[in-house]
Amino acid sequence: MDVTLLEATPNPEEVICRAARNDYMEPFNPEMSFEETMASVEGDTLREKKETLIGHLLQHGHFGPFEHPQATFGVKGCSRTCMAQITRHRHVSFDVRSMRYVSFDDVDPESVADGELVVTPPSVTDPDWVGRNNEDGPVDQETVERRESVFADAVQHSVEAYQDLLDLGMPPEDARFVLPLGTEVNIVLSMNVRMLMHVADMRAAADAQWEVRRMTEDILDLASEWAPISFDHYEDHMRNRKNRLAP
Ligand SMILES: Cc1cc2nc3c(=O)[nH]c(=O)nc-3n(C[C@H](O)[C@H](O)[C@H](O)COP(=O)(O)OP(=O)(O)OC[C@H]3O[C@@H](n4cnc5c(N)ncnc54)[C@H](O)[C@@H]3O)c2cc1C
Repeated sequence: MDVTLLEATPNPEEVICRAARNDYMEPFNPEMSFEETMASVEGDTLREKKETLIGHLLQHGHFGPFEHPQATFGVKGCSRTCMAQITRHRHVSFDVRSMRYVSFDDVDPESVADGELVVTPPSVTDPDWVGRNNEDGPVDQETVERRESVFADAVQHSVEAYQDLLDLGMPPEDARFVLPLGTEVNIVLSMNVRMLMHVADMRAAADAQWEVRRMTEDILDLASEWAPISFDHYEDHMRNRKNRLAP
Protein backbone atom coordinates (compact mmCIF):
# COMPACT_ATOMS: atom_id res chain seq x y z
CA MET A 1 0.00 0.00 0.00
CA ASP A 2 1.21 3.53 -0.80
CA VAL A 3 -0.16 6.62 0.89
CA THR A 4 0.53 10.10 -0.48
CA LEU A 5 -0.59 13.60 0.40
CA LEU A 6 -2.36 14.95 -2.69
CA GLU A 7 -3.45 18.44 -1.56
CA ALA A 8 -3.82 20.27 1.74
CA THR A 9 -4.84 23.67 3.08
CA PRO A 10 -1.76 25.92 2.97
CA ASN A 11 -0.62 27.29 6.36
CA PRO A 12 -3.01 25.03 8.29
CA GLU A 13 -1.82 26.18 11.71
CA GLU A 14 -2.23 29.84 10.83
CA VAL A 15 -5.84 28.99 9.88
CA ILE A 16 -6.36 27.16 13.21
CA CYS A 17 -4.93 30.09 15.20
CA ARG A 18 -6.89 32.72 13.29
CA ALA A 19 -10.12 30.75 13.82
CA ALA A 20 -9.44 30.36 17.55
CA ARG A 21 -8.39 33.99 18.08
CA ASN A 22 -11.54 35.12 16.26
CA ASP A 23 -13.58 33.64 19.10
CA TYR A 24 -12.10 35.97 21.70
CA MET A 25 -11.13 39.17 19.83
CA GLU A 26 -13.32 42.16 19.31
CA PRO A 27 -11.86 43.31 15.96
CA PHE A 28 -12.62 41.00 13.04
CA ASN A 29 -9.29 39.23 12.72
CA PRO A 30 -9.16 38.53 8.95
CA GLU A 31 -8.60 42.29 8.57
CA MET A 32 -5.49 42.07 10.78
CA SER A 33 -2.09 40.62 10.00
CA PHE A 34 -1.33 37.23 11.55
CA GLU A 35 1.31 38.89 13.77
CA GLU A 36 -1.31 41.34 15.14
CA THR A 37 -3.80 38.51 15.64
CA MET A 38 -1.26 36.61 17.75
CA ALA A 39 0.21 39.66 19.56
CA SER A 40 -1.15 38.87 23.04
CA VAL A 41 -0.42 35.11 22.90
CA GLU A 42 2.49 34.00 25.09
CA GLY A 43 5.78 33.36 23.25
CA ASP A 44 8.81 35.20 21.88
CA THR A 45 8.44 34.09 18.28
CA LEU A 46 5.44 33.42 16.04
CA ARG A 47 6.28 29.69 16.18
CA GLU A 48 6.24 29.76 20.00
CA LYS A 49 2.94 31.65 20.01
CA LYS A 50 1.41 29.05 17.69
CA GLU A 51 2.71 26.28 19.97
CA THR A 52 1.16 27.99 23.01
CA LEU A 53 -2.23 28.50 21.42
CA ILE A 54 -2.50 25.13 19.65
CA GLY A 55 -1.33 23.27 22.77
CA HIS A 56 -3.88 25.17 24.86
CA LEU A 57 -6.73 24.41 22.45
CA LEU A 58 -5.98 20.68 22.28
CA GLN A 59 -5.45 20.41 26.03
CA HIS A 60 -8.78 22.05 26.77
CA GLY A 61 -10.80 20.22 24.15
CA HIS A 62 -11.45 23.31 22.03
CA PHE A 63 -11.49 21.30 18.81
CA GLY A 64 -13.62 23.49 16.52
CA PRO A 65 -10.69 25.46 15.02
CA PHE A 66 -9.13 22.16 13.90
CA GLU A 67 -12.04 21.54 11.54
CA HIS A 68 -10.94 24.30 9.12
CA PRO A 69 -7.74 22.91 7.53
CA GLN A 70 -8.34 19.88 5.34
CA ALA A 71 -5.99 17.40 3.66
CA THR A 72 -6.54 14.97 0.80
CA PHE A 73 -4.66 11.66 0.67
CA GLY A 74 -4.26 9.05 -2.06
CA VAL A 75 -4.13 5.40 -0.99
CA LYS A 76 -2.97 2.90 -3.58
CA GLY A 77 -3.53 -0.82 -3.14
CA CYS A 78 -5.32 -1.35 0.17
CA SER A 79 -7.68 -4.29 0.53
CA ARG A 80 -11.45 -3.91 0.36
CA THR A 81 -11.47 -5.11 3.99
CA CYS A 82 -9.36 -2.12 4.98
CA MET A 83 -11.60 0.09 2.83
CA ALA A 84 -14.68 -1.17 4.71
CA GLN A 85 -13.03 -0.16 7.99
CA ILE A 86 -11.85 3.31 7.03
CA THR A 87 -15.09 4.22 5.24
CA ARG A 88 -17.03 3.79 8.52
CA HIS A 89 -15.80 7.28 9.46
CA ARG A 90 -18.64 9.54 8.44
CA HIS A 91 -16.83 12.87 8.46
CA VAL A 92 -14.22 11.69 5.98
CA SER A 93 -14.92 12.16 2.24
CA PHE A 94 -14.07 9.29 -0.10
CA ASP A 95 -13.67 8.38 -3.73
CA VAL A 96 -13.12 4.69 -4.39
CA ARG A 97 -12.05 3.04 -7.64
CA SER A 98 -15.11 1.53 -9.29
CA MET A 99 -15.33 -2.21 -9.96
CA ARG A 100 -18.13 -1.47 -12.40
CA TYR A 101 -16.10 0.69 -14.77
CA VAL A 102 -12.68 -0.86 -14.06
CA SER A 103 -12.57 -4.63 -14.53
CA PHE A 104 -9.65 -6.99 -13.92
CA ASP A 105 -10.07 -8.86 -17.19
CA ASP A 106 -6.39 -8.65 -18.17
CA VAL A 107 -4.87 -9.75 -14.84
CA ASP A 108 -3.06 -13.10 -15.03
CA PRO A 109 -4.58 -15.36 -12.32
CA GLU A 110 -1.18 -17.00 -11.78
CA SER A 111 0.33 -13.62 -10.90
CA VAL A 112 -2.53 -13.17 -8.41
CA ALA A 113 -1.28 -16.34 -6.71
CA ASP A 114 2.13 -14.59 -6.53
CA GLY A 115 0.72 -11.49 -4.80
CA GLU A 116 -0.70 -9.26 -7.53
CA LEU A 117 -4.19 -7.71 -7.11
CA VAL A 118 -5.00 -9.32 -3.74
CA VAL A 119 -3.37 -8.11 -0.51
CA THR A 120 -1.59 -10.92 1.37
CA PRO A 121 -1.96 -10.64 5.16
CA PRO A 122 1.30 -11.12 7.10
CA SER A 123 -0.17 -14.14 8.89
CA VAL A 124 -0.08 -16.02 5.56
CA THR A 125 3.72 -15.98 5.44
CA ASP A 126 4.96 -15.17 8.94
CA PRO A 127 4.79 -18.11 11.39
CA ASP A 128 5.28 -15.76 14.34
CA TRP A 129 2.46 -13.40 13.40
CA VAL A 130 -0.21 -13.52 16.08
CA GLY A 131 -3.46 -11.68 15.50
CA ARG A 132 -5.32 -9.97 18.33
CA ASN A 133 -7.95 -12.70 18.56
CA ASN A 134 -5.60 -15.53 17.68
CA GLU A 135 -5.67 -17.91 20.62
CA ASP A 136 -3.26 -20.45 19.09
CA GLY A 137 -0.14 -18.24 18.96
CA PRO A 138 2.80 -18.79 16.56
CA VAL A 139 2.78 -21.78 14.18
CA ASP A 140 5.52 -23.95 12.66
CA GLN A 141 7.04 -23.56 9.19
CA GLU A 142 5.03 -26.44 7.73
CA THR A 143 1.75 -24.81 8.78
CA VAL A 144 2.72 -21.47 7.29
CA GLU A 145 3.66 -23.17 4.01
CA ARG A 146 0.22 -24.79 3.93
CA ARG A 147 -1.37 -21.42 4.61
CA GLU A 148 0.55 -19.91 1.68
CA SER A 149 -0.57 -22.70 -0.61
CA VAL A 150 -4.26 -22.53 0.43
CA PHE A 151 -4.27 -18.73 0.15
CA ALA A 152 -2.57 -18.65 -3.27
CA ASP A 153 -4.89 -21.36 -4.68
CA ALA A 154 -8.00 -19.60 -3.34
CA VAL A 155 -7.19 -16.15 -4.76
CA GLN A 156 -6.07 -17.58 -8.10
CA HIS A 157 -9.26 -19.65 -8.38
CA SER A 158 -11.39 -16.68 -7.42
CA VAL A 159 -9.88 -14.46 -10.16
CA GLU A 160 -10.21 -17.29 -12.71
CA ALA A 161 -13.90 -17.61 -11.81
CA TYR A 162 -14.35 -13.83 -12.09
CA GLN A 163 -12.79 -13.78 -15.56
CA ASP A 164 -14.86 -16.81 -16.65
CA LEU A 165 -18.01 -14.96 -15.61
CA LEU A 166 -16.89 -11.87 -17.59
CA ASP A 167 -16.31 -14.14 -20.61
CA LEU A 168 -19.84 -15.48 -20.12
CA GLY A 169 -21.12 -11.92 -20.52
CA MET A 170 -21.74 -11.01 -16.90
CA PRO A 171 -21.34 -7.30 -16.07
CA PRO A 172 -18.18 -6.56 -13.99
CA GLU A 173 -20.26 -5.25 -11.08
CA ASP A 174 -21.94 -8.69 -10.78
CA ALA A 175 -18.91 -10.85 -11.61
CA ARG A 176 -16.97 -9.12 -8.79
CA PHE A 177 -19.13 -10.91 -6.21
CA VAL A 178 -16.73 -13.86 -6.42
CA LEU A 179 -13.59 -11.77 -5.77
CA PRO A 180 -11.89 -11.91 -2.34
CA LEU A 181 -12.19 -9.24 0.37
CA GLY A 182 -8.44 -8.82 -0.02
CA THR A 183 -8.84 -7.42 -3.56
CA GLU A 184 -6.89 -4.18 -3.90
CA VAL A 185 -8.61 -0.83 -4.29
CA ASN A 186 -7.40 2.74 -4.70
CA ILE A 187 -8.97 5.45 -2.57
CA VAL A 188 -8.84 9.24 -2.38
CA LEU A 189 -9.88 10.53 1.04
CA SER A 190 -10.15 13.96 2.60
CA MET A 191 -10.55 15.01 6.20
CA ASN A 192 -9.90 17.90 8.52
CA VAL A 193 -7.36 17.95 11.35
CA ARG A 194 -9.94 17.18 14.04
CA MET A 195 -11.23 14.15 12.16
CA LEU A 196 -7.72 12.98 11.38
CA MET A 197 -6.99 12.86 15.12
CA HIS A 198 -10.21 10.96 15.74
CA VAL A 199 -9.41 8.43 12.98
CA ALA A 200 -5.93 8.04 14.48
CA ASP A 201 -7.42 7.48 17.95
CA MET A 202 -9.39 4.56 16.56
CA ARG A 203 -7.31 3.20 13.70
CA ALA A 204 -3.71 3.78 14.79
CA ALA A 205 -4.54 2.04 18.06
CA ALA A 206 -3.27 -1.37 19.15
CA ASP A 207 -6.66 -3.02 18.64
CA ALA A 208 -6.99 -1.86 15.01
CA GLN A 209 -6.15 -4.40 12.29
CA TRP A 210 -2.58 -4.21 10.89
CA GLU A 211 -3.54 -2.83 7.47
CA VAL A 212 -5.81 0.06 8.48
CA ARG A 213 -3.33 0.77 11.25
CA ARG A 214 -0.47 1.05 8.78
CA MET A 215 -2.58 3.27 6.53
CA THR A 216 -3.40 5.55 9.44
CA GLU A 217 0.20 5.67 10.62
CA ASP A 218 1.31 6.68 7.10
CA ILE A 219 -1.40 9.36 7.06
CA LEU A 220 -0.22 10.58 10.48
CA ASP A 221 3.40 10.82 9.22
CA LEU A 222 2.27 12.98 6.30
CA ALA A 223 0.05 15.05 8.59
CA SER A 224 3.02 15.73 10.90
CA GLU A 225 4.87 17.36 8.02
CA TRP A 226 1.79 19.36 7.03
CA ALA A 227 0.70 20.57 10.49
CA PRO A 228 3.73 19.82 12.72
CA ILE A 229 2.74 21.66 15.90
CA SER A 230 -0.71 20.05 16.07
CA PHE A 231 0.47 16.54 15.30
CA ASP A 232 3.54 16.76 17.56
CA HIS A 233 1.17 17.67 20.37
CA TYR A 234 -1.13 14.81 19.35
CA GLU A 235 1.81 12.37 19.34
CA ASP A 236 3.20 13.54 22.68
CA HIS A 237 0.02 14.06 24.69
CA MET A 238 -3.00 12.50 23.01
CA ARG A 239 -2.09 9.39 21.03
CA ASN A 240 -2.89 5.98 22.48
CA ARG A 241 -5.27 7.35 25.07
CA LYS A 242 -8.59 5.57 25.32
CA ASN A 243 -10.82 6.43 22.35
CA ARG A 244 -12.93 9.45 23.04
CA LEU A 245 -16.10 10.58 21.38
CA ALA A 246 -14.30 13.70 20.16
CA PRO A 247 -12.19 14.64 18.39
C1 LIG B 1 -10.90 -2.04 16.60
C2 LIG B 1 -12.25 -1.74 16.01
C3 LIG B 1 -13.17 -2.75 15.86
C4 LIG B 1 -14.44 -2.49 15.31
N1 LIG B 1 -15.33 -3.51 15.16
C5 LIG B 1 -16.55 -3.28 14.63
C6 LIG B 1 -17.51 -4.32 14.43
O1 LIG B 1 -17.26 -5.47 14.78
N2 LIG B 1 -18.69 -4.01 13.85
C7 LIG B 1 -19.02 -2.74 13.49
O2 LIG B 1 -20.12 -2.52 12.98
N3 LIG B 1 -18.14 -1.74 13.64
C8 LIG B 1 -16.92 -1.96 14.19
N4 LIG B 1 -16.03 -0.93 14.33
C9 LIG B 1 -16.41 0.39 13.82
C10 LIG B 1 -16.80 1.35 14.97
O3 LIG B 1 -17.85 0.81 15.72
C11 LIG B 1 -17.23 2.71 14.39
O4 LIG B 1 -18.44 2.58 13.67
C12 LIG B 1 -16.22 3.31 13.44
O5 LIG B 1 -14.94 3.20 13.97
C13 LIG B 1 -16.57 4.78 13.18
O6 LIG B 1 -16.16 5.56 14.27
P1 LIG B 1 -17.13 6.53 15.09
O7 LIG B 1 -18.25 5.75 15.67
O8 LIG B 1 -16.28 7.28 16.05
O9 LIG B 1 -17.81 7.47 14.03
P2 LIG B 1 -17.25 8.55 12.98
O10 LIG B 1 -18.07 8.37 11.78
O11 LIG B 1 -15.77 8.48 12.86
O12 LIG B 1 -17.71 9.91 13.62
C14 LIG B 1 -16.89 10.67 14.52
C15 LIG B 1 -17.67 11.06 15.75
O13 LIG B 1 -18.80 11.85 15.34
C16 LIG B 1 -19.91 11.55 16.18
N5 LIG B 1 -20.99 11.01 15.33
C17 LIG B 1 -20.93 10.71 14.00
N6 LIG B 1 -22.10 10.30 13.54
C18 LIG B 1 -22.95 10.30 14.60
C19 LIG B 1 -24.31 9.97 14.76
N7 LIG B 1 -25.06 9.52 13.75
N8 LIG B 1 -24.85 10.11 15.97
C20 LIG B 1 -24.12 10.56 17.02
N9 LIG B 1 -22.81 10.88 16.95
C21 LIG B 1 -22.24 10.76 15.74
C22 LIG B 1 -19.44 10.53 17.21
O14 LIG B 1 -19.00 11.25 18.34
C23 LIG B 1 -18.27 9.88 16.52
O15 LIG B 1 -17.32 9.31 17.42
C24 LIG B 1 -14.77 -1.17 14.88
C25 LIG B 1 -13.83 -0.15 15.05
C26 LIG B 1 -12.58 -0.41 15.60
C27 LIG B 1 -11.58 0.72 15.75
